[in-house]
Amino acid sequence: MSQEFDHIVVGAGSAGCVLANRLTEDGARRVLLIEAGGSDASPFHAMPLGFMAAMADPAKDWGYATEPEPHLDGRRVPLPRGRVLGGCSTTNGMIYMRGHSGDYDEWRDLGCPGWGYDDVLPYFRKMETSWRGPGPYHGGDGPLTVSPVSHPWLRIDQIMESAAAAGFPMSEDLSGDRQEGFALSEVTVDRRGRRASAARAYLRPALKRPNLHLVTHAQVTRILFDGNRAVGVEYRRDGALHQSRATRDVILSGGSYNSPQLLMLSGIGPAAHLRDQGIEVRVDNPGVGGNLSEHPLVYGEFAVTGDTFLRQLRLDRAALSVLRWALLGSGPFASQVTSCAALIRTLPELTRPDIQLMVMPVRLDAKIWAPGLGKRLADMFSVMVIQLHPESRGRVSLRSADPDDKVRVQLNLLSHERDYAELRRGIRALRTLFGAGPLGQLAGRETKPGAHCQSDADLDAFIRANLRITQHPVGTCRMGTGDDAVVDPQLRVIGVENLRVVDASIMPTVPGGNTNAPVIMVAEKAADLIRRS
Ligand SMILES: Cc1cc2nc3c(=O)[nH]c(=O)nc-3n(C[C@H](O)[C@H](O)[C@H](O)COP(=O)(O)OP(=O)(O)OC[C@H]3O[C@@H](n4cnc5c(N)ncnc54)[C@H](O)[C@@H]3O)c2cc1C
Repeated sequence: MSQEFDHIVVGAGSAGCVLANRLTEDGARRVLLIEAGGSDASPFHAMPLGFMAAMADPAKDWGYATEPEPHLDGRRVPLPRGRVLGGCSTTNGMIYMRGHSGDYDEWRDLGCPGWGYDDVLPYFRKMETSWRGPGPYHGGDGPLTVSPVSHPWLRIDQIMESAAAAGFPMSEDLSGDRQEGFALSEVTVDRRGRRASAARAYLRPALKRPNLHLVTHAQVTRILFDGNRAVGVEYRRDGALHQSRATRDVILSGGSYNSPQLLMLSGIGPAAHLRDQGIEVRVDNPGVGGNLSEHPLVYGEFAVTGDTFLRQLRLDRAALSVLRWALLGSGPFASQVTSCAALIRTLPELTRPDIQLMVMPVRLDAKIWAPGLGKRLADMFSVMVIQLHPESRGRVSLRSADPDDKVRVQLNLLSHERDYAELRRGIRALRTLFGAGPLGQLAGRETKPGAHCQSDADLDAFIRANLRITQHPVGTCRMGTGDDAVVDPQLRVIGVENLRVVDASIMPTVPGGNTNAPVIMVAEKAADLIRRS
C-alpha cells in the first residue's frame, strides 16, 4: 500500500485506539492505524477473569524480559506487553485508578505546562462512563465504562472493616476529592460484564468510519523523513516491506519499550549508542529510552480460616460461572478478584500516598481445581504491596539495528535505599491490616513474608528475592523542556517536525496508581492538541 493519510498512528494499544477514534470522529481527517498484533476476539480477552490466560498467551505478547537486574541478584524480570488490538488494555488486570492530584501537578512543575491536575481532570471525565454517574470528578457518557467490583465472595466488608479498625483512612472515591484511603476496587468492565479495553471502548465503534484505515499484523520498522520532517513510516507485513505517507504527522503509540525503539531505529536518540549500532544520527537526544520508571511490588500472603475465592474455582463451579458470564454477563467471572484498593501514606509528613495495597481474597497460585485430583490447596488471602513513587530509573536501549531484535530493558529496580524503605513500611502496614478487625480473627499464619521476617535486614532480603513489577513502565520519551526531554508539552518530538509520541512513555514520572486510565487521559488530551494544531 502506498496511500496518503493525514495522520499515521503506530500501535493500536491504549493510546492508539483513543487517537484512532478521536481523530476520525469529525470526518475531516484520514487516519491509518498500524498494529503489529492481530484480533482481540478471544473469549479470554472479553471475560474479565480470563485475564490471567490473556496475559499468558505468547502469541499475543512481545515476550520481553529485563536484562539481569543488578540489585535483584541478577534476576531477569518478565515484562509482558500486549501485541494485539488494544495492546496492554486487552491483557491487563483492568483495575481503574487515576493516581493523586499531586502526581499531575508534579508533571506541570517538571516543565509540562498544561498537564497539572486541573488541566487533565476534564479529560478523565470525558473518557469515562462511571457507575457513579456524572459529577465534578466523573463522566457519564465517555467510551470507557468503569464498574465497581461487588460480589459476596470477595469479602469486601471484612476487609474494609479491618482497615477502619486498623486506623487507615477510608475513601468513598479514590478519584474524587480525597485520593487516599481504602476503597472498593473499580474496574474497566462494561455493563455486559465484558472487558472495556481501549479496542472495545474506542476502536470498534470507529472502525465503520470510512476515514479510518486499520492494518493489523504489520510491524513498523522505521519512520520516513524528508529532511527534518517525518513524512511516513515503513512497515513489514506478510514478509514484505510497505510504505505509507502522512501529510500532517506520524504519531508513535507503541508503548514505553517500542516507541523509544522506533525513535532510535530512525536515528533519534543518544548519539554514541546509535553509532555503536551503525545507525546514522538524525537527532542526538540522550533522553530517548532513559528515565524508565516502574512500580515495584511484593506480595504478602496470609492463611485464613473459612472459604476464599478458591471455592469459586472448583471445576464444576467455574464451568457454570463461565456459562453465566457468557449468557448473562454476571457472576464471579465477570469481574476481578481484587476486592479493595488502598492508597496510603506510611509517614504522616508525606503529601501524597506512597504505597498502594491491593487486597485479594485468594491465594497467589490459585487456579481451577477439581476434587479428587490432588490435594485441595489451603485458603489464603494475598495482597500486593506497591511502591507508588520509586526513585530508581532504568533505560531502554537497542540490542541492534534490526527492528526484530527485542529491545534491551534495564529497570535498575531497588537501586535507591528509599525504594527499600518504602516497601518495608508497606509490608508493615499490611501486617497492621491483617492484625485488626475481622481479618485479625480470620488470619492465621503469615506465609509471605513470614513471621520470621522482622528486622529491616530480613525484610530487605525478602524484598530483593521476591520483588516483581506491576507492568506500568513510563518515562522513556519524557515530556518536558529540559535537555533530556524527548517531546514538548504538545507531545511533538524535539528536533524534528511532524512527529509525535502519545503513550505511557511521555509521562515524566509514574502516577501513583495503575497506568491505563492515565494513558487514556494522555491520548484524549493529545487528540485535542493535534486537532487544534
Ligand atoms: C500484565 C499487565 C497488567 C496490567 N494491569 C493493569 C491494571 O490492572 N490497570 C491499569 O490501569 N493498568 C494496568 N497495566 C498497565 C496498562 O495496561 C498500560 O500502562 C497501558 O495499557 C499502556 O498503554 P500504551 O498505549 O502506552 O501501550 P500499549 O497498550 O502497550 O500499546 C502499544 C501497542 O503498540 C503496538 N506496537 C508496538 N510497537 C509496534 C510497531 N513497531 N509496529 C506496530 N505496532 C506496534 C503493540 O503491539 C501494542 O498494541 C497492566 C499492564 C500489563 C502488561
